[in-house]
Amino acid sequence: MRTRITEMLGIEHPVVQGGMQWVGFAELASAVSNAGGLGILTGLTQPTPEDLIKEIDRCRAMTDKPFAVNLTILPTIKPVPYEEYAQAIVDSGVKIVETAGRNPEPFLPLFKSAGITVIHKCTSIRHSLKAERIGCDMVSVDGFECAGHPGEDDVTNMILLPLAARRLKIPFLASGGLGDGRGLAAALAMGADGINMGTRFMVTKEAPIHEKVKHAMVEASELDTSLIYRTLRNTARVFKNSIAEQVIEIEGKPGETKFEEIQPLVAGVKGRELFDTGDLDKGIWSAGMVVGLIDDIPTVEELITRIVDEAEKIINERLGSAVSV
Ligand code: NAD
Repeated sequence: MRTRITEMLGIEHPVVQGGMQWVGFAELASAVSNAGGLGILTGLTQPTPEDLIKEIDRCRAMTDKPFAVNLTILPTIKPVPYEEYAQAIVDSGVKIVETAGRNPEPFLPLFKSAGITVIHKCTSIRHSLKAERIGCDMVSVDGFECAGHPGEDDVTNMILLPLAARRLKIPFLASGGLGDGRGLAAALAMGADGINMGTRFMVTKEAPIHEKVKHAMVEASELDTSLIYRTLRNTARVFKNSIAEQVIEIEGKPGETKFEEIQPLVAGVKGRELFDTGDLDKGIWSAGMVVGLIDDIPTVEELITRIVDEAEKIINERLGSAVSV
C-alpha cells in the first residue's frame, strides 16, 4: 500500500505504533519498524533525557529502518524537563517525533530546524486544524475509542475521520479502535492515510509486558475499559480492573475530586510494576475499546502482515465486487 504517510515516513505499510508509557521500549519499536511499520519509543518511559539517548541508540542497533520518539505533555506527578527530552531527541538524530497532550508549538522551532517530521496526536478537529496551522507535518486523529487520553469531547472516529478528511490538507492517521484489516480498510475509506495502533501492539509477542496482561486483554470484551479522571478534565481510558473502579468511586463522591486522593492508586510507577509482575490489580493501565477485537498474541510481523493482507483483500474483493456491475 502506498499513501502520503508511507511516502513521508519512508515506511512500507501505513501502520504506526503509538507512544505508550512503559511499553514503548526498543524491543517493540524496532519490531514494528523491522516489520515495515513505524515503531515509536516513548520518551517519558525513560527516567532521564540521557536514558532516552541510550534507548534511541539501543533501538538503532536493533533496526536500520525509520523509527520515531513520542513526547507526551500532560499532567504528571513529578515535573518533567520536557525541553531536555526534546533536545535529547534532536541530538540523537531521530527524524520523526510524535507529540501528544498539549499544544506542541513551543517545540516546533527546535524540531523543524533539525529537519524532524512532527506527527501531533489530536482528539478533536479544532486541535487538528491548529496543529496544521502551526506547522505540524501530519496528525494522528484519536477517536473516543482510544486508550489513554481521549480528550473531553467524546467524538468517535466514525465522525472525526471524515471531518478530518474534509478539513485538513496535511495527511492524517486514524487512531483509536484500530486492530484489524477491516479497521485499516475503513480508515483509508474515511480519508486517513494510515492507522496508529497502541493497544493492539501491546498484545504481541514482542511487547515488553507480562504475559498475564496480554492474556487479560485477549479475554476482555469491548466493555472492559473504564474512563477515569473525568472529574479532573484529564480523562483516561484504562483497562477495567478493581483500581479503576475505586478511582471512579472516589470521583463519584459529592464535591470536587482532589487528585491527591487518587494519586496512590494511579501512580505510573504502579502501572509499571503491574506490567513487570502481571499483578493485574496493582495499578491502572491504558487500554482501548479495541480489546474487544483482540483474540490472539501474534508476533508484530504476523500482525502487520495479517492486517495489511486483510485490508487489501477487503478493498480488492469485497468493496470491488460491491461496485462492479
Ligand atoms: P504519572 O505517574 O506522573 O501520573 C499518573 C497519572 O495521573 C497520569 O495519567 C497523569 O496524567 C495523571 N495525573 C498526574 N498528575 C495529575 C494531576 N495533577 N491532575 C490530573 N491528573 C494527573 O504518569 P506516568 O504514568 O508516569 O505517565 C507519564 C505521562 O504520560 C503522563 O502525562 C501520562 O498522562 C502520559 N500517558 C499518556 C498516555 C496516552 O494515552 N497518551 C498513556 C499513559 C501515560
